[in-house]
Amino acid sequence: MIVQLKPSISPAEKEAILQKIRSLEYKTTEVRTQKGDYLVGIGKKEFDVRQLGHMKGIADIHRVSDDYKLVSRKWKVERSHIDLGDGVVIGNGSLSIMAGPCSIESEEQVQQIIDHLVRNKVRIMRGGVFKPRSSPYAFRGMGVEGLKMWYKLARKAGIKIISEVMQVSQIEAMHDYVDVFQVGARNTQNFNLLDELGKVDKAVMIKRGISGTIEELLYSAEYVFSAGNEKLMLCERGIRTYEKASRNTLDVNAIPILKEKTHLPVIADPSHGIGIREYVEPIALATVMAGADGVIYETHQKPEEAASDGQQTLNFEESEELINKLRKTFELRMSF
Ligand code: PEP
Ligand code: MN
Repeated sequence: MIVQLKPSISPAEKEAILQKIRSLEYKTTEVRTQKGDYLVGIGKKEFDVRQLGHMKGIADIHRVSDDYKLVSRKWKVERSHIDLGDGVVIGNGSLSIMAGPCSIESEEQVQQIIDHLVRNKVRIMRGGVFKPRSSPYAFRGMGVEGLKMWYKLARKAGIKIISEVMQVSQIEAMHDYVDVFQVGARNTQNFNLLDELGKVDKAVMIKRGISGTIEELLYSAEYVFSAGNEKLMLCERGIRTYEKASRNTLDVNAIPILKEKTHLPVIADPSHGIGIREYVEPIALATVMAGADGVIYETHQKPEEAASDGQQTLNFEESEELINKLRKTFELRMSF
């Protein structure tokens, strides 16, 4: 059960509601986000919501049968959107395109990619400065200094930044230089990190775990929301299956399923989802037809020289073609 509280609620009114819910044998958690105050009640007992409905300070009450509550679409049918400012909005019925290198490598690289994005009217750039690498000997990112350099160039061009945060201690250092914190597939269930991102007034995109279920992804989102941050989106980035012909198996199924289960925007990452440059485009287009609110993919001026994930990275020509086809595919979807 979710009880939405009125902003004007008094402490006495809240206490009376809490007592009433406790008397119904429901465990309650108080949630305060940037947008509103809620009481999340977990319990089994059936009761008539009218017992609560008349109480002062309540804006609305919703029964939510899912085990995750605040991210469920059962109480919030209208979709959430995230406003990054300067006209960049995710999940408002448009298609968000986010593109950039796997890793931020140099000022020259960043500027070339920004120019490519600006030419193609893409407003959000991805890039990692902290890279989770399977091998400790691989390039592990430029760190906060790289992020600051990127931020300076991106801001001049009106480009927003999405970048992966790997651990709690990086949040503060990154905070002023990102627009969206990305939680990578290896950290989907880093609950301490999720809790801390709940306290941040910045958007968060959570990627599905390498072997994570859709439900586990929704629970991870519930951590961030219930810790106070509603500016959230989810990302399908492929899961590990028995198939070896591709790096991962992008689960296109997850897109309509997530769109049904949650009000949060759903993004697809075809680059990590398939891991093979030639197939990024068809998979990206499939995710748009499946209902994705956005696509995030890797591009680089010289993919063969990229510090990481070059094998799945598009050059600018391929990237431009993909952008055009993504927009056309989205128009087609909207025409149905
Ligand atoms: C990335 O976006 O470069 C990345 C490492 O992604 P994932 O966490 O999905 O592997
Ligand atoms: Mn990558």
